[in-house]
Amino acid sequence: MTAAAAILRLDAVSKSYESPGGTTIVLAGADLTVERGEKVSLMGPSGSGKSTLLSLISGLLRPDAGTVELDGVSIAALGDGERAALRGGCIGIALQSENLIPFLSAIENVDLALGFGRRRNGKRGRGKQLLDQLGVVHRADHLPRQLSGGEAQRVALAVALANEPALLLADEMVSALDSATASRIVDDVFGSEMAVLFVTHDAALADRADRRLMLHEQKVISR
Ligand code: ADP
Ligand code: MG
Repeated sequence: MTAAAAILRLDAVSKSYESPGGTTIVLAGADLTVERGEKVSLMGPSGSGKSTLLSLISGLLRPDAGTVELDGVSIAALGDGERAALRGGCIGIALQSENLIPFLSAIENVDLALGFGRRRNGKRGRGKQLLDQLGVVHRADHLPRQLSGGEAQRVALAVALANEPALLLADEMVSALDSATASRIVDDVFGSEMAVLFVTHDAALADRADRRLMLHEQKVISR
């Protein structure tokens, strides 16, 4: 690990799914680098592999070939515990499928994330502050099922931001929000120092990133 290492580097990553219907090749030799602090958007038609790519980066899936490095460390070389620690210390994940714990309230979900990370001291009130920043503090004591889709999305984003990750991975993080709220949240996230890799179908939001990418023919290309 060096100070110069990119926060994220994918080198020649391939991934297929096997199912009774046959093989689906999703990624074939895909390359991607995200520098520290860089804001990168990722577009691509439904089914092109955007969620698969984020799952490979977060270590939820393993590539068939190629390497994924976080902060200069190849995640394939790590055991499950080490990979979880790297993920907890380095990246925040707001995935398309809700990752809120159903029997904990909004604030408890955020506080749990705060407790697991490296910044566990002196952060009393940070959970509320995050929910406030995202405009959902009035729902702090609600369970996930009592939240609207847009509210749940914002709580999930608060969970992802809890530990001030060096890299935020976000899959459709503002898709359920009205455009003014979405725009304000993107401003907020882009105003921070963290690197962001975010998937969106909204070209206007995608265009605000430092770099605009898309999935095309199983590879990551500029758009
Ligand atoms: P996107 O997020 O761009 O819509 P996905 O990464 O979810 O695309 O899916 C890419 C392709 O892989 C799609 O054709 C999808 O049907 C297929 N796929 C995704 N997950 C699985 C799975 N667990 N098993 C089989 N095929 C899958
Ligand atoms: Mg998807």
